[in-house]
Amino acid sequence: MSYLRKNIAAMAGYVPGFQPPDEASWIKLNTNENPYPPSPQVLRAIQAATGEGVRKYPDAASRAGRKAASELYGYPIDWVIMANGSDELLNNLIRACVSEGEEVAYLHPSYSYYATLAAVQGAQIKTFALTETGEIKDFPERYTGKLFFLANPNAPLGLRWSVEEVAALADRCTGLLVVDEAYADFAEGNCLELVRMKPNVVVTRTLSKSYSLAGMRLGLAIARPDIIAALDKIRDHYNLDRLAQVAVAAALVDQDYLRESVKRICATRQWFSTELGKLGYRVIPSSANYLFASPPDQNGKRVYDALYQRKILVRHFSDPVLAHGLRISIGTREEMEKTLAALMEIG
Ligand code: PMP
Repeated sequence: MSYLRKNIAAMAGYVPGFQPPDEASWIKLNTNENPYPPSPQVLRAIQAATGEGVRKYPDAASRAGRKAASELYGYPIDWVIMANGSDELLNNLIRACVSEGEEVAYLHPSYSYYATLAAVQGAQIKTFALTETGEIKDFPERYTGKLFFLANPNAPLGLRWSVEEVAALADRCTGLLVVDEAYADFAEGNCLELVRMKPNVVVTRTLSKSYSLAGMRLGLAIARPDIIAALDKIRDHYNLDRLAQVAVAAALVDQDYLRESVKRICATRQWFSTELGKLGYRVIPSSANYLFASPPDQNGKRVYDALYQRKILVRHFSDPVLAHGLRISIGTREEMEKTLAALMEIG
């Protein structure tokens, strides 16, 4: 007899990008981390909070971070929730809104964690095919599933839909449209205003990428107060530890630092994309801190292996719709120059 629920026993777990133990000896371009350090103000705030105070629980309501997000994004504080990474929010949104046997949708390809979450919940899965030119295939006039995850910009292709396009999708959904804006700070615009305009839109954000805080596990969502209240009921009540709480408050306040970091990454993205094009790679225009690029022979695995041998780590997906290419995170200009040199050598 198994003690496990059938769907848990049957499912495959999510496999995160590889974190090599000898981190410093790699050029690590496989998990879309930011190559620059967090704001000095954030590091100072974390250092100041490291002390005997950790014997006490953190603020269960994460008020400092929510206040900073509320002021930054122009939403009242009861429209904001903090999370231990935006993954926690994706997880809790599905737990709050989708019963076993009900349907969840997402695009294929997109962030593969959505599939894991649906499997845990015992939800039915509906996928809509996404082409490399950004076309969503067969999206119905009215989508009646309980929840639709839209990563915008898309992961791993980097494509982005305008706010008007996302608004039109929201109007076609009966259930919740979760706009996963993990990479929105690297894009020209975002969908935050839709939360106010459309009753069924939730926007999630992460501090892992643009704010260089993947190691602190920080995410947030903007949604209507009834949805926030539901997410609040089901989260781990101390989901943000004391260090994370001071880090998020300091990070959201230092917008000058964010802008500078994003500007540098976008400039390197532009340069690297042009250079890859010169090598005969097909590069999808990206609004994120990575590029999806295919070598001339369409053999992503061959190039992945050759880069790996040179201690350059990128992401290759075995999924047949992605296997021809690679997802390459944008590192520093120097890291990308070394990567380009390696790609020239590999051919
Ligand atoms: N959404 C997308 C599309 C992502 O690529 C990631 C990062 N893997 C996340 C959400 C989760 O980010 P985090 O949990 O670090 O906030």
